[in-house]
Amino acid sequence: MNNFELYNPTRLVFGEGQIAKLKDLVPKQARVIMVYGGGSIFKNGIYEQVKAALEGFTVTEFGGIEANPHYETLMKAVELIRSEKLDFILAVGGGSVIDGAKFISAAVHFEGDTKEILYKRMSIRENAVPFGSVLTIPATGSEMNSGSVVTIAATQEKLPFGGPALFPVFSICDPKVIISLPKRQLQNGVVDAFTHVMEQYLTYPADAYLQDRFSEGILQTLVEIGPKVVEQPDNYTLAANFMWSCTMALNGLIQKGVPTDWATHMIGHELTALYGIDHARTLAIIAPNLYKVLFSAKKEKLAQYGRRVWNIQGDDTETIAREAIRKTEEFLDIMGMDRKLANHTPDYAQTADIIVKRFEARGWVKLGENGIVTPDKVKEIVELSYN
Ligand code: NAP
Ligand code: FE
Repeated sequence: MNNFELYNPTRLVFGEGQIAKLKDLVPKQARVIMVYGGGSIFKNGIYEQVKAALEGFTVTEFGGIEANPHYETLMKAVELIRSEKLDFILAVGGGSVIDGAKFISAAVHFEGDTKEILYKRMSIRENAVPFGSVLTIPATGSEMNSGSVVTIAATQEKLPFGGPALFPVFSICDPKVIISLPKRQLQNGVVDAFTHVMEQYLTYPADAYLQDRFSEGILQTLVEIGPKVVEQPDNYTLAANFMWSCTMALNGLIQKGVPTDWATHMIGHELTALYGIDHARTLAIIAPNLYKVLFSAKKEKLAQYGRRVWNIQGDDTETIAREAIRKTEEFLDIMGMDRKLANHTPDYAQTADIIVKRFEARGWVKLGENGIVTPDKVKEIVELSYN
């Protein structure tokens, strides 16, 4: 097991009816900006719950943060905060709105060109505007981590950044919010969380026994409840276990002491930036092919995953590892993922070359847990994903 530091200051408030607690969680004298997305909160009663809880607070509203939040939109909120001297951000939404709030938080007091936060992948350690969240879709774990991904629409670039100053002060997770989610978004949430665990687990053995068991527990839970929650989002038990699994998949705990990969996410972000494909769907397109191309480096963990998560029997590591990939593909199919890039865009033929060029320009030539995801491997993975 590797050395590690664990720091997570987010107060997570979980359960039915907890949105009402906003009145105790938002600082009393705060001048609040409430940021939200395309308007789903007006149709499902979440807006009313938030407004009721914030009676008596000074709240300015800023809506229109799109899925895969745009730098250009977020900068409008930054200007508003600067001109109105607002000092607390409340994000009401999913990963896109919460990630957006993180960028806004980092940008308000940033001196210089705020695009540099993204281009230099800055680690924000101070001078961030405090923010909290009301989560409306389980998926990303953004409600309890300090990472964010922002798209520069003008150049079609989707870039990650983060830092210890970017944990939400609090996040309210009421599983009831999932009732209004379209099936597609429920499927996306399960697959995003599943892939988050795989990025931190499916690497090489690191003798971190407890971390492995944490990861396998989350994977098993998602396999068990994923297909059911998509059909019954009004089942509170399923919703609660789904929401907590998504938070636990990326709140920092399971990555401590172990190597992490993240190459699936890095390649997937390019597919969203280029073709607008939903984040989770890009992961489903890439992940199984990445496991195939990096088979020799990952086969030990693939076999452990196959035995423990899928209960595959046998003695031969390679056979079990290959069967584990097949089970993963089957699960992604059950979760409604279309794993062929060609079915998402007619312009797929040059994708591998475009992504390789972009990665090389950014110096991303050694991705993955041990730096073996080189440009030629990226090309192979993406080309395998075409059809
Ligand atoms: P999202 O993009 O925040 O939301 C997806 C869609 O679901 C939106 O159209 C939204 O509509 C709708 N929606 C949200 N809550 C709803 C509800 N309760 N009822 C009905 N519709 C609802 O989804 P997400 O998967 O949570 O976030 C994806 C983003 O997070 C991507 O940009 C991804 O790259 C990023 N991400 C971040 C992390 C991290 O650690 N920070 C990790 C993985 C991915 P409205 O806009 O109208 O509300
Ligand atoms: Fe993700």
